[in-house]
Amino acid sequence: MTGNVETLGTGVPASTGTPGLSVSGVSVGYEMGGERCVVARDLNIEVAAGEFAAIIGPSGCGKSTLLSAIAGLAEPFEGQIRIGNTPTANRLGIVAYMQQKDLLLPWRTVLANARLGLELAGVAQDVANEAAAERASEFGLSNVIDSYPWQLSGGMRQRAALLRATLPESPVLLLDEPFGALDAITRRHLQEWLASVLDRAERAVLLVTHDVEEALLLADRVYVMSPGPGTIVDTVDVAIDRPRGESTVTMPEFIALKSRLLSALSSGAAASGGAPA
Ligand code: ADP
Ligand code: MG
Repeated sequence: MTGNVETLGTGVPASTGTPGLSVSGVSVGYEMGGERCVVARDLNIEVAAGEFAAIIGPSGCGKSTLLSAIAGLAEPFEGQIRIGNTPTANRLGIVAYMQQKDLLLPWRTVLANARLGLELAGVAQDVANEAAAERASEFGLSNVIDSYPWQLSGGMRQRAALLRATLPESPVLLLDEPFGALDAITRRHLQEWLASVLDRAERAVLLVTHDVEEALLLADRVYVMSPGPGTIVDTVDVAIDRPRGESTVTMPEFIALKSRLLSALSSGAAASGGAPA
C-alpha cells in the first residue's frame, strides 16, 4: 500500500480523511407509471480510499438498487453520492461494478471479457490484453484465458467477473453478492482469496451480501439494512486482525459481532413487520 493510506498494526487501513465514496441522505427506487416507488431511504455510507465496507440486508431491501445508483446507472431520488471530490453526475466511468449476475459475455474468451473495462476506457487492445493476462495469474486464471465462460466452473466464472471488474484502476469498486450462487466451500475459498488480492488496493470497496460471516471476514465496517423500504439499522466496525480465515470464525470477538449483526437483522425485520428473507 502506498500514498496516504496508512496500514495500522491490525491490517485495517486508516481513514485518509477524504472519503473515496460518500452517500448522504440518499433515497433510491424506481418509477412505474409515473409514480416513484422508494425501495431504500435515508442512507448514509462513507467508505474511505483503502477501506472495505459491507452492506447486509434481506432480499428486496434495495441493496442492488443502491449500487446501481452509486455506479451512475440511475440517479437517487434524494440526497448526494460523491466519489472523492468528483461531482455526482460523472460516476459512470469511475466506479467499477460487479453486478449480481456475473454477466460475462458468452461469445468472448476469459481474456476478452477481462479486458472489456479497459477497452471501453479506450485502452489499445494489445495493451489491454497484456494487462489482463498479467492480472489473470494473480486470479488463478492463467490456464483458462482462452476459454469461454461456459467452459469454466462457477468459481472460475466469478473470478473472471472479478478480474474484469477490478482491472481498470477505479477508485471505487462495488460488488453485489459476488459469491451468492456458489457452494459453501468454494465461497469460503474465494472470500479468503478476495481478501488477499484486495488488501493492498487503495480503493474504496463496497460489498453487498446477505451472508453475515462473509461481511465479517471481509469488511472493516458493516452496515445492516432493514427489509424494504430499507434503511440502515446498525453500523458495526470490525476490528479483527487480518488475515481473517477459517480460524477467525471461532474467535469470541467474531462470534460476538456475528450475534450483534444477526440481532440487528431480526430487529430491523421485526420493526418493519416483515419476515426475514
Ligand atoms: P435487493 O438487492 O436488496 O434484493 P433490489 O434493490 O433488487 O433489492 O430491489 C428492491 C425492491 O425493488 C424489490 O422488491 C424489487 O422487486 C423492486 N424493484 C427494483 N427495481 C424495480 C423495477 N425497475 N421495477 C419494479 N420493481 C423493482
Ligand atoms: Mg440484489
